[in-house]
Amino acid sequence: MNYERKYNFSAGPAMMPEAVLEEVAAELLNYRGSGMSVMEMSHRSRVYQTILEETEADLRALLAIPNNYRVLFLQGGGTLQFSMVPMNLMAHGAAEYLLTGAWSQKAMEEAKKFGTVYVPASSQERGYWEIPALENLSLHPESDYVYICENETIHGTCYPSVPDTMGKPLVSDQSSLFLSKPCSVSDYGLIFAGVQKNVGPAGLAIVIIREDLIRGDLPQATPVYLEYATHAGASSLYNTPNCWAIYVCGKVFRYLRSTGGLDAMARRNEEKARVLYDFLDRSSFYSCPVKPPFRSLMNVPFFTPNPELDAQLVAFSQKAGLENLKGHRSVGGLRASLFNAMPLEGVKALVACLEEFAQNCGES
Ligand SMILES: *Cc1c(COP(=O)(O)O)cnc(C)c1O
Repeated sequence: MNYERKYNFSAGPAMMPEAVLEEVAAELLNYRGSGMSVMEMSHRSRVYQTILEETEADLRALLAIPNNYRVLFLQGGGTLQFSMVPMNLMAHGAAEYLLTGAWSQKAMEEAKKFGTVYVPASSQERGYWEIPALENLSLHPESDYVYICENETIHGTCYPSVPDTMGKPLVSDQSSLFLSKPCSVSDYGLIFAGVQKNVGPAGLAIVIIREDLIRGDLPQATPVYLEYATHAGASSLYNTPNCWAIYVCGKVFRYLRSTGGLDAMARRNEEKARVLYDFLDRSSFYSCPVKPPFRSLMNVPFFTPNPELDAQLVAFSQKAGLENLKGHRSVGGLRASLFNAMPLEGVKALVACLEEFAQNCGES
């Protein structure tokens, strides 16, 4: 084992729990006496079937997923869901997209290819640094669903609560929020997440979909692979799934269960975020563009007084073993992602580094 691991503040792929990496390493060559690595196994073998079933069962237990929801393990990352959601859910050819940042914007642009898109609320004119008011949204009767990106990874905002959709299915991109806190699945029609932000290795998306939204009457030209019905009907084994990522996610689910579940995870995440935001708010050197009610616990964008110092700080932090703090190119500044696997010690090391840098610049 290499114990010179860095604190990786990347927005994804991101840190994994060390205990999980160690378990994976121990099983790498010979999974539990099977004589082979999970990487080498048939996805239809008995031993892999068990891995898949246990992984789904642990996820269901963690989120208390009701029986009328299906769990799908798909490929194509979070991005393919930007297409699959409208292809599968726009039965009447229209949907409502709340515009809150780069990721909801991408999803909205894709949905426009498949039907009419309405935008009942937007924070675009405010630079996406907040979540717009969610009261009294005017929704169109023909809209099939309401779409949100619940945690905007680039702008560092998060919904304080989900909107009232007046009975329409709520679709949520939870990629950078998934399993960071408890979630009431029955408030949603569909939840999806690319797992490399908060859960596991890249290349896998998890979709949790209410059964009545899985349609069997899509237009004939719809690619079979892009129908939720295909994957639901085959229990995520229509073709070879991302076996490896599913296996590692299963380990993370078990790890989360053994460390107190999502309530305990939420408390750890709140504490981590508080340490950083409190420091930024006390400082006259650093600034955080997001107002407190809308702040993400997962992604924290912040700025020094100018872009030159931002760049110097990134280099300074790397020397302290803190990686990937450069802000997204569309936003600039810095961004610290504090996903589940980032330990509190990592956040404290970050704050110490920020303090030292500000002092070196003659600030307090
Ligand atoms: C990263 C991200 C995506 C895209 O995920 P990929 O797996 O790279 O396709 C979608 N939505 C959000 C909120 C993200 O953070």
